[in-house]
Amino acid sequence: MSNKHFCQGPQCHTYPTSDRFLKSKGIIRGRYAYAKINDTENKYGWTYPDSDKYFCSQGCKNDWLNTNMECVAQRTVPPFIEHRRITEGYEKKQVDSNGGYYRYNRIQKIGVDNDG
Ligand SMILES: [Zn+2]
Repeated sequence: MSNKHFCQGPQCHTYPTSDRFLKSKGIIRGRYAYAKINDTENKYGWTYPDSDKYFCSQGCKNDWLNTNMECVAQRTVPPFIEHRRITEGYEKKQVDSNGGYYRYNRIQKIGVDNDG
């Protein structure tokens, strides 16, 4: 078993960031949580909050709350994300901006061209 949980963020596997993108398969993958399951106090005396063992970022924590508030209200538990989730159909594309003055790489849905 891995020493990290998968991020429980409900949309983690849909955000097209470079660290989530796997070029060879054209997919976006959910991240691992920020901290290891068994992380304790580090050498600086910092102890990770438990939420860092379940989420990769503050944004994914907020996504989880916003998605699961009904579970909180109903006293139920949302399903645990046990497998790495993916979103298919992404590519990295070089984009010209400002009439070619500025260029950058964007990870985007394949076939979507909205250069402008
Ligand atoms: Zn996440």
